Amino acid sequence: MKTYYVLDTSSLLRLIRDQDKLLNILQDGFIAITKEVYEEIKDRSSRLFLNAIIDRISIINPSPQFRRETMRRARDIGCHNVLSKTDLSVVALALELLSRNYDVKLLTEDFEIQNMCKFLKIPYSSVTDKVIKKILKTFKKCLVCGETYESSLSACPNCGSLKYKLIKTRADN
Ligand SMILES: [Zn+2]
Repeated sequence: MKTYYVLDTSSLLRLIRDQDKLLNILQDGFIAITKEVYEEIKDRSSRLFLNAIIDRISIINPSPQFRRETMRRARDIGCHNVLSKTDLSVVALALELLSRNYDVKLLTEDFEIQNMCKFLKIPYSSVTDKVIKKILKTFKKCLVCGETYESSLSACPNCGSLKYKLIKTRADN
């Protein structure tokens, strides 16, 4: 079975500039992007090239169900504020294709998206082969008492303060 390579904007731009790599991917599988990613490709020459190969690329709109699921899971690890709407659409598309039992690989250079993939067990890689090793989770650290707590909480469970800073720490320790 051929693999669906789901690309975010950064990896699509890299592949547009490295067309040998792009052709290799098309030999090995399909390229799928969301409309949000397509619309982020703004410079004229990249657009022209993209439009020239557009019949070999699937532009898929992830369903509301998978968009909601992605948002919910992003909240779980506190990265819903860090990922853009486009980033979330890319993750939602990968999840949806996986749910239909396709082979999926999400290509991204973005460590936040990679982190999300790792958490959701979405196979991923990057065009430049730079990938993260550990899942990072975002927590809030209270500026009054120093308590570290879940980023979904609005106030410190220890002292009730609303003042915090965001910190990242490994989720598996
Ligand atoms: Zn506190």
